[in-house]
Amino acid sequence: MTNTTSHDTFQAACNLIPGGVNSPVRAYKSVGTEPRFVARAKGSRIWDIDGREYVDFVGSWGPMILGYGYEPVLDAVREQLELGTSFGAPTCVEVEAAEAVVNAVPSVEMVRFVSSGTEATMSAIRLARGYTGREKFIKFDGNYHGHSDSLLVAAGSGVLTLGIPGTPGVTQGAAKDTIVLPYNDLDSVREALEANPEQVAAVILEPIAGNMGVVPPKPGFLQGLRDLCDAHGTVLIFDEVITGFRVALGGAQELYGVTPDLTTLGKIIGGGFPVGAFGGKAEIMRHLAPEGPVYQAGTLSGNPVAMVAGITTIAALSQPGVYEELDRKGKKLADGLCRAAGSAAVHTHCNRVGSMSTMFFTHLEVSNWASASTADTDRYARFFRGMLDRGYWLAPSQFEACFVSLAHTDEEIEAFVDAAGEVLASL
Ligand SMILES: *Cc1c(COP(=O)(O)O)cnc(C)c1O
Repeated sequence: MTNTTSHDTFQAACNLIPGGVNSPVRAYKSVGTEPRFVARAKGSRIWDIDGREYVDFVGSWGPMILGYGYEPVLDAVREQLELGTSFGAPTCVEVEAAEAVVNAVPSVEMVRFVSSGTEATMSAIRLARGYTGREKFIKFDGNYHGHSDSLLVAAGSGVLTLGIPGTPGVTQGAAKDTIVLPYNDLDSVREALEANPEQVAAVILEPIAGNMGVVPPKPGFLQGLRDLCDAHGTVLIFDEVITGFRVALGGAQELYGVTPDLTTLGKIIGGGFPVGAFGGKAEIMRHLAPEGPVYQAGTLSGNPVAMVAGITTIAALSQPGVYEELDRKGKKLADGLCRAAGSAAVHTHCNRVGSMSTMFFTHLEVSNWASASTADTDRYARFFRGMLDRGYWLAPSQFEACFVSLAHTDEEIEAFVDAAGEVLASL
């Protein structure tokens, strides 16, 4: 590829890759511009091939919590590269990574590694069905759990941002056992469980929603789900692909003190490499092949290069004070944005948990998809483009999180807030 600008590369890409991107969320379609092609990144900064520099608040959609190019991760990867990149046979680093996850995440007694968050959630649903002998499951409107058929119903940002009506290719058969309910509404879950006695295998949710913008659980929602699942013999699955190692080392389940039966992980756990994982109660996990009858497999699962990146990332996040620091920076950013919006008299509602936040362009409190979807996405698009022009790399959708990493400095956050103030005043 000899093209030198993002524009030219994008033109070429559009003839080779559908939409020019390998994941729809990377398109800048909904914000009315074209994606910038990345040359490299380091710490909190990312550079496009046009030579522009940005302070990045996407962090590869969450994984880069330590900042880009974190040296201990690079060292561990270099060392493993020399030993071999894939064997299709067990390695010590897989056991070491499993131990790190079991130690970190309260609900996880046993874990299996896969290569993406999609694989983790898809496998967890299969396991819950195999374990309970039931077929239906409950998910929540605006929660995203990867793109497997039965989970791709009312599925959050990627689908919502592009305004794709339903999901062609997902058969009615695949979707018919998926019950979709409003987030943060315990009564509707109770009613659905009672209306489908001994038929609901699992309730799956993002314990802090991140794929309709950040939407925290209302007080009592998670514990209420725990109690309902216990009463109905239903497996409670926390999809912590974003929140795992993000809001606390042990994820949202540690933060809120509610323990699911199964947990899915991804993003941060791979330290920038393709890794997902699902784990939970040993009694349930032992139903997986080869120990049990529920089949699940992967040629590159537990890939050693990805494992050492994950182990090193978890070790760095285990240092004392890490989550206090992330929370302090996240608060500085979100509070600063709220103040800036207030000064500019722009109606916004900010949701934040630790280092993940979303400023919704709506005056309503945002607690589910119905309220999130009142946000003015045109206004977000103008905000996004104004910030991009000023050297800030944000998610090209209103319905995503803004992520702060350990590499962001206070000065960068202050400058970001100042720039946001200017852009907001011009909207
Ligand atoms: C990103 C995400 C997934 C899917 O992970 P991939 O690695 O993109 O397949 C699943 N669940 C949640 C909550 C996510 O944010």
